[in-house]
Parts: sequence; C-alpha cells; structure tokens
Amino acid sequence: MNIHEYQGKQIMRDFGVAVPNGHVAYNVDEAVEAAEKLGTDVTVVKAQIHAGGRGNAGGVKIAKSLDDVRTYAEELLGKTLVTHQTGSEGKEVKRLLIEEGCDIKNEYYVGLVLDRNTSRVTMMASEEGGTEIEQVAEETPEKIFKEVIDPVVGLTPFQARRLAFNINIPKESLSKAVKFMLGLYDVFMKKDCSIAEINPLVTTGEGEVLALDSKLNFDDNALFRQKDIADLRDLDEEDPKEIEASKYDLSYIALDGNIGCMVNGAGLAMATMDTIKHYGGEPANFLDVGGGASKEKVTGAFKLILSDENVNGIFVNIFGGIMKCDVIAEGIVAASKEIGLELPLVVRLEGTNVKEGKRILDESGLNITAADSMADGAQKIVEFVK
Ligand code: ADP
Ligand code: MG
Repeated sequence: MNIHEYQGKQIMRDFGVAVPNGHVAYNVDEAVEAAEKLGTDVTVVKAQIHAGGRGNAGGVKIAKSLDDVRTYAEELLGKTLVTHQTGSEGKEVKRLLIEEGCDIKNEYYVGLVLDRNTSRVTMMASEEGGTEIEQVAEETPEKIFKEVIDPVVGLTPFQARRLAFNINIPKESLSKAVKFMLGLYDVFMKKDCSIAEINPLVTTGEGEVLALDSKLNFDDNALFRQKDIADLRDLDEEDPKEIEASKYDLSYIALDGNIGCMVNGAGLAMATMDTIKHYGGEPANFLDVGGGASKEKVTGAFKLILSDENVNGIFVNIFGGIMKCDVIAEGIVAASKEIGLELPLVVRLEGTNVKEGKRILDESGLNITAADSMADGAQKIVEFVK
C-alpha cells in the first residue's frame, strides 16, 4: 500500500525523524491558512498524488507570499498532473502539502528496501539526490552505496556513519545524518514498510539534515497489525475496479486491452495473457480468482470484468484442481444472466467436475463457445473481438 508524502512525513515526525513543518490542505482557503500558520518567508506548495516526478511536472511551487500560495493552490487543485510515473492519463490533484521552504545546501538520496537476493533489508544512499535513483544506478552505479542490515542487530550507527561518509555529508552534519538514518530504519521496521525512499534528503544552510520528500510503501500482508496505516489509504488514488476486486479478495490488475480474462492461479493467468498476445490479441486484465473460489466470488469476478468498458469479449480459462469446474460454471451462468451478457464468451474448462461444468454451461441457454485447450480458446476469442 502506498500513502501520500504528507502522511509519510507525519509518521517520520512521530518517530523523531527530521522533516520540514507542513500541513495538508484540501482547498485554497485551507492552503492559505496553512501558510499563515507556518509563517515562513518562503512556502512550498506541493501536489499530493501517489507518484513521483512532481517537481519536473510543475507540481512543486515555491511561494514567496500568501498571494502566491493562493495562486498556486488555485492552479494545482483539480489539475491533472502528468509525471513520468503517472502514465499519460495523469492523476488529479485533490490535496496539497503546504510546507516551509527549505534553504537547500545539498541534495542526497537515502532509501530502504528489502533485497530479495540477500533476504535482508538494505539501506542505499547516494550523493546524487533529486535525480531518479534508477538513472543513477544505470549511469553512475559507483555513486550508490549500500549497507546490508543484519535483522538481529538492526542498522548499526557504524553502518549509518559509513554511509554518511561515503556520500560526503559535511562533517558538521554527520551526526544528524546518522540519527536520521537510524530513525528511518526504525520507521521501516516498526511500520512494516516495503519501501522507504527519501529523495531528496537535504542538508540546509544551518547544517540541518531533513527529508524534503517521503515515499513510504507498506506490506499489504502486515496491514492487519498496522490499522493506523490502513486508515491512510486514499481510494481516490486507486483504480475503482481494483478496489472492487479487493472486496471479493480477487487478484485483479486492469490492463488496456479488450479481452477480459478470468483464470485461476497466477501462473495460469500470466500464461493465458501471453497466449492471447501470441495470437494477436490484447488482454484487458489480469485476474486470478484463486484456489477455492465460491460461486459469489466467481460472479463478482465476472461483473468486474464486464464493468470495464473496453472489454469486447471474455476468455475463461480454468483448471479445476481445488477449484471445481461446476462451481465456476454456475458462477458464469449466474453472472451472465444477472448482467444480460451479450459479449462473446469463450470457456475452457479442465479438471475436477469438468463434465458437470460443461453440462451446466450447455444447458444454460447462453451463447458460450467451448474451447478444447488454452491455445484453441485464445485463438477463438481473438477472432471474436477482431
Ligand atoms: P518529486 O520527487 O515528486 O519531484 P519532491 O518532493 O522530491 O517531489 O520535490 C522536488 C524538488 O522540489 C526537490 O528536489 C526540491 O529541490 C524541491 N523542494 C521540495 N520540497 C521543498 C521544500 N520544502 N523547500 C524547498 N525546496 C523543496
Ligand atoms: Mg522526490
């Protein structure tokens, strides 16, 4: 799960990690009020969306007066911001962070991730702050320093100091940088983060070390014990279909093709998408209904596929192991009747209770094309939607 920058900064603040003062604003008046409360000469108006690259896209504005704050807030709120991380459709700005302007001396990068090769949390740091870390990794990998963290011992002050030295934090700010890194590690572990990325971390004219940006992602599987984090979820930032899918506990990812897919098992779902593409089609979604789906779940899945306006045809590809083919068939029939399905539907069923499943489909009176194999089904649905 992802949260906004201002929310991430509040969590860091609660843990004693240095961030600039700031307040969230949902409308122009709140923005001006927040700036008044801060009372600083320079205020920064920052668009809050779940995507980076806002600076280059005009989503971070430096205001020198309250009038400036008003102007920028008016400009940004309601605007669709297109950054290199949002895709071409962009994201609408509904919240702003009004933050004190910071006298930046130098920008750095500090990030924590779980390194799956070593199975350890790893802190990365670089002198090249403000730029994309992916770009640094590609062009000047020698400028990224890493510390692999022992889960028993945690990040040691010695490791944090070595990182701070390596990225050339000035002497007078070293101990503050170390404190920052240790605090960030604490946040990462205690809040079950999957990513904590601070880009940029800055040193200021007064020698302070602050996070100017904050990107915290959380492990969905840990949200049951992080209720306060779960409450920060902003549904406006998520695809409505994916929200609907999470209600039925379905793994669903919207894609931009026109063939809706309903499959059980992530591996088979991937293979199904590949096969559709192989025959010249474009899948509209990834959808794994899981192992032991009920009729209700299948119905929910089916409705979800149909709620996508781009869908011109549906391919159901089920291998019944734990999942029984007759249950799938009942779900398909119920959903098709409820919705009044008119789109071409190709079904390939195999496995447990397959005969019973096929009989249910045959007797349903629905216009369903049966397929003998995954390849056969993919070819048929691609032909239908042409
Ligand atoms: P993004 O990563 O989405 O572009 P950032 O929060 O990193 O957004 O902001 C982009 C740039 O704007 C920063 O690299 C920094 O130079 C500047 N900036 C952001 N917040 C402040 C602030 N409070 N004071 C001064 N400059 C800021
Ligand atoms: Mg940034």
